[in-house]
Amino acid sequence: MENEMKTVRDRAMAIGLPTKPIDAMRKFCLECVGGGGRKEASKLVRECPATKCPLHPFRLGKNPYHKLNLTPEQRKRRSDLAKERFIGKSVSFKSEQI
Ligand code: SF4
Repeated sequence: MENEMKTVRDRAMAIGLPTKPIDAMRKFCLECVGGGGRKEASKLVRECPATKCPLHPFRLGKNPYHKLNLTPEQRKRRSDLAKERFIGKSVSFKSEQI
């Protein structure tokens, strides 16, 4: 009964499977070069020459397409907004757009 109430994510975590696609891709790459348990696996994945492999852009465990190209002012504004929302610190803003 308790097992039925667990989510797919909970079950995946319980058996050590990655729960995020980017983590699964990283794990796959580590296995591709011979196993994540090997010391040199990370280095081999980093230096993987298979640029035509569909996983190549994701092999380091980060999505390169999620990078934001923000100006320093936009970065500061987002930082201030996050502080206000999560810390409750009040900050003043100029009328700039994000
Ligand atoms: S990018 Fe492709 S070839 Fe390179 S390690 Fe990952 S799965 Fe293997």
